[in-house]
Amino acid sequence: MHCPFCGEADTKVIDSRLVAEGDQVRRRRECLSCHERFTTFETAELVMPRVVKQDGTRQPFDEEKLRAGLMKALEKRPVSIESIEAALNRIKYRLRATGEREVKSMQLGEEVMTELRQLDKVAYVRFASVYRSFQDINEFKEEIERLSQGNGDAADVARALAETPTGKGKV
Ligand SMILES: [Zn+2]
Repeated sequence: MHCPFCGEADTKVIDSRLVAEGDQVRRRRECLSCHERFTTFETAELVMPRVVKQDGTRQPFDEEKLRAGLMKALEKRPVSIESIEAALNRIKYRLRATGEREVKSMQLGEEVMTELRQLDKVAYVRFASVYRSFQDINEFKEEIERLSQGNGDAADVARALAETPTGKGKV
């Protein structure tokens, strides 16, 4: 890193230690040219990307809204709060891991569907039918058929689809 005093490109680290309970690295540096000393702090950037909606508007990532969407889809389903929180954390982790400053709301929706699909098929259908209603309906029907095959959830899935309210559970 460049020296803030003389602009010299080479500075050497003379001390390095963890601060803020290990969440930060404090480095003492010395300029090889003018010998001034200065300190830098290094922190992991944990900001969530902003969400770009379909109309192009940007919104800050809203964890509460995401949680509420998951809860709505999972209403009266046998899924623990711990499992929901774990799903929420996985979604946040994957969004951060993109390294992007902005993500499309559609990508967020896909992440939610990925998690719901693992958690509870009925909740998945509830969410997906609302979320994807304006997208590819044939693709969705195939998905329902695939989910309904080979397990005892067919009746549950059909019921969830029948009673799916419009506009609810959407992120
Ligand atoms: Zn210098």
